[in-house]
Amino acid sequence: MRALTISTTGSLDAVEYRTDVTAPLITGPGQVRLRLRAAALNHLNLWTIRGLPGAVITPKWVLGSDGTGVIEEVSDDVTGVRPGDRVVINPGLSCRQCAYCRAGEHPLCVKFRVLGEQVPGTFTEEVVLPAANVRAIPSSVSDADAGAFGLAQLTAWRMLVSRAKVQAGDEVLIWGIGGGVAQAALLIAKARGARVWVTSGSDEKLQRARALGADELINHAGIDVGREVRERTGKRGVSVVVDSVGTATWEQSLGALGRAGRLVTCGGTSGHVLQMDVRRLFWNQWTIMGSTMGSDAEFDAVVAELVAGRLSVPVDSVYPLERGRDALAHLQGGTHFGKIVLQIGE
Ligand SMILES: [Zn+2]
Repeated sequence: MRALTISTTGSLDAVEYRTDVTAPLITGPGQVRLRLRAAALNHLNLWTIRGLPGAVITPKWVLGSDGTGVIEEVSDDVTGVRPGDRVVINPGLSCRQCAYCRAGEHPLCVKFRVLGEQVPGTFTEEVVLPAANVRAIPSSVSDADAGAFGLAQLTAWRMLVSRAKVQAGDEVLIWGIGGGVAQAALLIAKARGARVWVTSGSDEKLQRARALGADELINHAGIDVGREVRERTGKRGVSVVVDSVGTATWEQSLGALGRAGRLVTCGGTSGHVLQMDVRRLFWNQWTIMGSTMGSDAEFDAVVAELVAGRLSVPVDSVYPLERGRDALAHLQGGTHFGKIVLQIGE
């Protein structure tokens, strides 16, 4: 099979397009084999290439977490999907036996794994997955929307809906509106009736975010976003901050957060170590929460939003699989607005 792979971790130079990767086979009950048509890129792919602590890759390691394609084959016991179905993938794999899984909290699974990170991924022609990790989508969902769908929407849904419980009356600040998670968060927060503040270092991206429904725009280049938010809100601040940038934005995020505010994070693209004065935490009665991936129920919810046409994250660009390294460089460069997608098959 054709595939985008790494055989060692490091820079993007480690990324290899190959044509000699062995096709996977169904090996037991509860599995599906699907032929991939498109797959969206995520920052997670860049972390995998750089090397994640504890993650062991075996050459030729297939990258990629997201994907959409057509079911080719299912195990005898699979009833939810059948050959010929168009599907989207939930890239989080859980054991379905531990206490967290039994409680429906799959991303807390003690054996949680992610496609492309701890198991071979989707930037290839075929993949075998648990049937629980795919959902059929109707023909009304466009190829572009299906191709841009995955981790970003699922992650944003859990952050905003399940964790921060965003609702009408909330003021939500979202950092870095060029990325897919941030854009999905914007769409979800608006659909729930919140007012949404977005930041970017690019005025052009801010104007495009306005077209997606953003209420307040902040060009974060060279300013203190916390101070800016306090000025625009008469010192009140926002009720929710969505921060996946980490070290570079943390202090400003806290500066923007009003009393009893909730800060939710799903990553730290600029750095992982944060500092905090505990007096501010208790005096302001803040809630700081982490979030990652999503459960089966959250995946169902986010697929329903996709089918309803309420979660169309823009597609920045589409690259053929063989130009995957260029696509990853584009993601790393940060000039994109929306999802960067690899076209794999017809
Ligand atoms: Zn589990």
